[in-house]
Amino acid sequence: MNNISMERFERVLESVKKASTYLGVEKNSVHKDHEKIDASIALAFPDLYEIGMSHLGLKILYNVINGQPDLVAERVFTPGEDFATAIKSENMPFMSLETRRPLKDFDILGFTIPYELSYTNMLWMLDLAGIPLKTLDRDDATTFVIGGGAGVYNVEPVAEFFDCFVLGDGEETVLTVMRLIASQKGKPRNETLEKLSHVPGVYVPSLFDVSYDTEGKIEKVSPKLAEYKKATRVFLPTLSESPFPYEIVIPFGKPVQDRLNVEIDRGCTQGCRFCQAGTTYRPVRERTPAEIMAIIEKALGLTGYDSVTVTSLSAGDYSKIEPLLSTLMNRYEGEKVGVSLPSLRSDTVTSNIIREVGRVKKTGFTITSEAGTQRLRDVLNKNVTDEAIIRVATNLLESGWRSLKLYFMIGLPTETDEDVEAIFKLSDKLAQLTVNKKRFQTITVSVSNFVPKPHTAFQWVGQDSIESLIRKKERLFDLIRRNKRLRLKWNNAKMSFLEAVFSRGDRKLSRVVERAYRTGCKMDAWTEFFSYDGWMAAFKEEGIEPEFYANRDFDLDETLPWDHIDTGLTKKFFLREWKHAQKAEMTGDCKTANCEGCGLDPNTCFKPYDWPEVEKPEADQSTQKNRFKYRLTYTKTGLVKFLAHLETVSVLTRAIRIAKLPVMYSEGYSPHPRISFGPALPVGVESYAEAMDIEFSSKFAAEPLLQILNSVTPRGFNFTDCEEISIGTKSISSLIKGAEYKIAFRNAMPEEQINTAIKSFMESESRIIVREGPSGKSIDTRPMIKEITTISNLAGIRFKTVNSPTGSVRPNEVVKALFADNTPEIASITKLANILNMQDKIAI
Ligand code: SF4
Repeated sequence: MNNISMERFERVLESVKKASTYLGVEKNSVHKDHEKIDASIALAFPDLYEIGMSHLGLKILYNVINGQPDLVAERVFTPGEDFATAIKSENMPFMSLETRRPLKDFDILGFTIPYELSYTNMLWMLDLAGIPLKTLDRDDATTFVIGGGAGVYNVEPVAEFFDCFVLGDGEETVLTVMRLIASQKGKPRNETLEKLSHVPGVYVPSLFDVSYDTEGKIEKVSPKLAEYKKATRVFLPTLSESPFPYEIVIPFGKPVQDRLNVEIDRGCTQGCRFCQAGTTYRPVRERTPAEIMAIIEKALGLTGYDSVTVTSLSAGDYSKIEPLLSTLMNRYEGEKVGVSLPSLRSDTVTSNIIREVGRVKKTGFTITSEAGTQRLRDVLNKNVTDEAIIRVATNLLESGWRSLKLYFMIGLPTETDEDVEAIFKLSDKLAQLTVNKKRFQTITVSVSNFVPKPHTAFQWVGQDSIESLIRKKERLFDLIRRNKRLRLKWNNAKMSFLEAVFSRGDRKLSRVVERAYRTGCKMDAWTEFFSYDGWMAAFKEEGIEPEFYANRDFDLDETLPWDHIDTGLTKKFFLREWKHAQKAEMTGDCKTANCEGCGLDPNTCFKPYDWPEVEKPEADQSTQKNRFKYRLTYTKTGLVKFLAHLETVSVLTRAIRIAKLPVMYSEGYSPHPRISFGPALPVGVESYAEAMDIEFSSKFAAEPLLQILNSVTPRGFNFTDCEEISIGTKSISSLIKGAEYKIAFRNAMPEEQINTAIKSFMESESRIIVREGPSGKSIDTRPMIKEITTISNLAGIRFKTVNSPTGSVRPNEVVKALFADNTPEIASITKLANILNMQDKIAI
């Protein structure tokens, strides 16, 4: 099938709310000719664009695959309901972002599986694409559906929908899988699946049969191939094999993680007994400080981000964390690049770390405690004490932080009411903490419900019941509201229950997933869309009790649904850890203490690193003295017309950073670039007259400045004019009094009819219309519209609008005001000029 034409696609975009998330023309997006490559994959993320575009793994795969001349990767995300409805009514298949290619024309649809509550979104995306949901129903020519990511360590509940899964670090495996599928084109699907089973790190679920006993427990998992008894996770020996995705696609809009994420290490050996990532990402592999600095330097230059997060399961455990941070801050403080560390255990947070992190921006700081009492922390093997937490909080107050986030879990194994109440006691103690007469203004106490995860020491433990979790949360809420500076944030217990069901589920659950999807469940990770009743009805219809999976303590000798998935860590190790947990006995960190015999080959594990320190740049002592202000005019045409105002602001601000122009910043805790934009342009309107003011610390000639800017902006933006203005000049938005537009109608309209409508309008004293949208307010358009003329060859009109004290008229409202009930369909709206007063215009 051909790719979707631009004209049809624009019609769809006009009817959706977040059009910018479907454009596929972001900076660094890759558009390859499919005729010239051997294998194609649509990298699918089963949640919205703004969530998926924050996922580092997806970015890594996109760049690794597109770096190969014979392969191509494009992206697709779960659509909004409006987009799905619009493509259905236009009879369009679900398509990729970059080339609008139907998903079923790709060789592979590769899902990242981030969490269990994304399962129905995957079925929805398959359905929209016209790909049969079940692997059994796919023929030899059907797109292969594969899965990977953090959620693949028990995929039995969705095993029937996937041809195969990639276990572990997917950077190399995905290339092998793509080339194998390319070489097998035209051959029987079963033969390809069998060949895939020989690729290290690939799990082909259809090559295993599962039988159950009368109680519903697994009796046996029977491999169909003698040489394929289990699927084994693969991991890269060092992170040097994981190339950093420098040319990251810069998302439009505001993704949940709107910053540069750089993975400083992978794996963690702290041994927290609830943590699946702590087992499935072992062994620890660190990048060198020099490698990290080089990555950040290059990636900031290519992306224009103004903050960096160094990602790690436990950043404080990175061997050279303090020198790394001070080197980073010395290098980037002058450019106002903030650095944050998302995961820190309080025993690793030193006052130096706090001081370094706060040098540019005091971003949110989270202390993870998990449990309120030392006894329960010992059960969890969480190497944290109250004293360490109080020390970190004291350092934060001394360094100027005024808000804090604490992270805990409830429903943990062996937990008592005393443990729950201790969460409040610790939080309250921190809220009372006073340093130099300063306290925290707010402390957010974030509480999650414990979900037992496969491949952990707690995999056998049943989850606390929904009722018990709610009772504990209410007790906590009663306590926490005694202190006005504490805020409680907690997860929905019913969602956590479903997460536990699928986390510990078997293949029988695929019937429930399909039924729930068919009866309307989707976007389950979103509280506003989650339908507990819908899910419970699906379980009932299928005759399956969800509590059997979520709340039951599994027998220690029971065959677990994930026993044939080999992460490298043994069941024997987890069992030993579970026994230690019951006695609240701690196990040491094998990075600094003895090997605990988890099952991996200790020779492949972390050796204490003594990385050479990178040369530290001196701290930037410069102060911004000289200020030069410029007024710039630019066009916004093509697909970028669907960017909303704030999205445009973000795209252009980043482009200016990529250009490394010396932008001036405001003072204060959160410095902002001194850039101001003209009035917002409605979404879907093209413009030849957008304007912005910007201040630099150096002087520029107009032509070179325009050239630099045009070399870094996405297609559709073009800077056309530049003028130096004095620092005290009023902002562009306060100077603009109106605008000139032209509108083309979709169908021909007699010129006489247009002229009659214009005449009638101009002769009237008032013309009231009702504004569309929630306000529904009535506005008199007549005083706000001037000089309307007909464009005869275009079947359209040209006019000027002028702002009034009560607001301004939108261009599409002009058509409504002129033609009332006979309003013609609009083909395009173009802004031609800004009007400073009714005699002057700028930038026609
Ligand atoms: S093999 Fe030993 S040193 Fe390596 S991760 Fe496992 S317990 Fe730690």
